[in-house]
Amino acid sequence: MSALPWATQNAPGHAIGLYAQWTPALDAKIEAAQQHLRDACAAHHDGLVQSSSLGVEDMVITDLISRAGLSVHISTLDTGKLHAETLGLLPQIKDRYGFDIEVFSPVAEAVVEFVTRQGDDAMYKSIELRKACCGVRKMEPLSRMLAGRSAWITGLRREQSGARGDVAFDEDDGSGTGRRKISPIADWTWAEVWAYVEKYAVPYNPLHDQFMPSIGCAPCTRAIAVGEDFRAGRWWWEDSSKECGLHAKS
Ligand code: SF4
Repeated sequence: MSALPWATQNAPGHAIGLYAQWTPALDAKIEAAQQHLRDACAAHHDGLVQSSSLGVEDMVITDLISRAGLSVHISTLDTGKLHAETLGLLPQIKDRYGFDIEVFSPVAEAVVEFVTRQGDDAMYKSIELRKACCGVRKMEPLSRMLAGRSAWITGLRREQSGARGDVAFDEDDGSGTGRRKISPIADWTWAEVWAYVEKYAVPYNPLHDQFMPSIGCAPCTRAIAVGEDFRAGRWWWEDSSKECGLHAKS
């Protein structure tokens, strides 16, 4: 259901040229997204954090925050397995917006222990080991990122996958704590995301120019082929829901 329309073209070039398409609805969607962010700031104050993957959707949200003049704490996870291009966005965000991004990393001893026991390529051996790697490198640092927070902002969009088809703008995050998950661009299309990037010259990961619409850790991300689903390049060797647990449903 989430095969990308542009994937029917095999044109070389940059992501903006391939994907960007301003739609009649986009001006209203931009205003609505900024209103969701204003409402979240008013409701949660310092309890609010943008959890940025540094993917293009999250870069758009950071730009929306800046453009709306909002003060939002922004954090990201450095799993130790990210592409250099992904981490290269941190100084760009500082230069462009003046925002310092708080970086959460896994516990070094836990990573060493996991790699020693299971190997550096454990993610390819079984879904259980892949999820265990995500547990050590992503879930544990995420739990520290969200500790004491009452809401987090994500770049989830309904179009990204069937599992995300019912993402709400503001919903319980399933943690059992009452914490809210705010997804201000849940209704945006991929074409609209890139139209926004083009109009406002939003910095983005150059790997998006190499047919990687969804970018995670380097060992677990590849370019997608013509006609493949949006998240087909994530854990491509698995027949799974292509989720790491960050956005698991309760
Ligand atoms: S995406 Fe891959 S490398 Fe990253 S934490 Fe999960 S299994 Fe490990």
